[in-house]
Amino acid sequence: MGTANNSKETGRRAFLKKATVAGLGTSLVGTGIANLSGEGNPLSSVQPETKKTGKKSFSLFRKEYETIDDAYEISPDYQRMDQKNIIFGRWGWDPKYYKPGGRGISFLLKDASEVPNPNEHLKGYGPVEHALGRAAWAGHDEGAPLSNSGLANTGPLNDWDKFSNPKRKEPYIFESLEEAKKYVKRAALFLGADEVGIAPYDERWVYTKQFDVESVLLDGVAPEDAPHEEIKFPFEVKSVIAFTFEMDYDALRAQGGLSDASAALEYSHMTEVSHKVAVFLNQLGYKAIPAGNDVGVSIPIAIQAGLGEISRMGTLISEKHGSRVRLAKVFTDLELPPDKPISFGVQDFCVKCKKCAEACPSNAISLEDEPSLNPEFNSISSNPGVKKWYQNNERCFSQWEKMGVACGVCLTVCPYNKIDNWVHFLSEMVVSAPVGRDIARQLDDAFGYGKLGPQYVDAFWNKED
Ligand code: SF4
Ligand code: SF4
Repeated sequence: MGTANNSKETGRRAFLKKATVAGLGTSLVGTGIANLSGEGNPLSSVQPETKKTGKKSFSLFRKEYETIDDAYEISPDYQRMDQKNIIFGRWGWDPKYYKPGGRGISFLLKDASEVPNPNEHLKGYGPVEHALGRAAWAGHDEGAPLSNSGLANTGPLNDWDKFSNPKRKEPYIFESLEEAKKYVKRAALFLGADEVGIAPYDERWVYTKQFDVESVLLDGVAPEDAPHEEIKFPFEVKSVIAFTFEMDYDALRAQGGLSDASAALEYSHMTEVSHKVAVFLNQLGYKAIPAGNDVGVSIPIAIQAGLGEISRMGTLISEKHGSRVRLAKVFTDLELPPDKPISFGVQDFCVKCKKCAEACPSNAISLEDEPSLNPEFNSISSNPGVKKWYQNNERCFSQWEKMGVACGVCLTVCPYNKIDNWVHFLSEMVVSAPVGRDIARQLDDAFGYGKLGPQYVDAFWNKED
């Protein structure tokens, strides 16, 4: 990783000179300062297992759809998103967030360890948690820095030139498209993805342009002089391989620095695994663009790949790992038969549940009963045209600034934040039956799920396996 900076420079600059690319949902989620837990759970003996496990959901009402447009209402007037307008893109130019001569939201930049930690006196926010967080970010920061803010082609692990020019000139020919899909999916799981699915290439989810926030924040370029380039792929994309990465349950519920670390670790896995899948494709003579939050919006791609359903809090609920997932993808010229979008009761349950919206410390999550084609608020970071609940990214991000780490209260309190066990099974069964939805949330509360706060910090550090 010693050549990360040089590679980043050549790769990204070259891209910005040569390229001209192209967002359904963007949402911020991560961890919280509020202690929402309350001790003394009488049902503590049925606290969920904390190992990484997970099965496909048991749902009597599981459905498959041919396309995302069959599963969701998407306006014909839907417009692709400019990466400049996502909340992290705004660090570099929007006076609301950009401070001349400043470094943006410093806790999310790679040199954040040099920045004083304002909450160091709070349990779970100390130097040890902070150090763990920086270590967890390392794969992302060295391999594809600022891809978390939607900036593509920034480092050795997401270098467009490299992955668009495989050394093997004659692509390996699989016996069939289905065989190619089988090998690619198995390889992705072996290389570290928690779930993998195949989406068709759909330009609607690709950013129109990207703004070089890094040159502003790290190189001191004035926002008005920073590149803001249309992006276009250096090859014809035929398929998108989508992945989920499960966040650690114990770290997430401890909140503060540990919750931040749980997100950070998956950002590193996103970077590393998408890179490795791109290498796999290159070795077979196919072109690939590995991406985390960059290049396009991950949630609709993951939906198209059959990995889950969008939720009230604006994130994907994975069928296998629930609310605790991060997403990545690889664009490739290898033709692969797409998987099908699914539903397994999440949106129907969200109508009744509202736990995330009630727990959110910045009131960033809609309390409206039904989803809508337009957000209830005005924000350039919320792209209208898809029927869903819109998260107010500006309010959410203000909470992150206050905490000095990413917040993930919503992910943690969500009833889908649980590890597979009999309670999970029981809850899902109730969720799956319309008659049971009214009581499912109460059931979830009664079983003691969704608890979070600094009382779990010691449990995290004392865990032995
Ligand atoms: S939406 Fe609310 S609860 Fe979720 S991460 Fe943002 S501030 Fe935290
Ligand atoms: S907490 Fe409830 S309303 Fe919010 S996303 Fe999870 S299931 Fe949906």
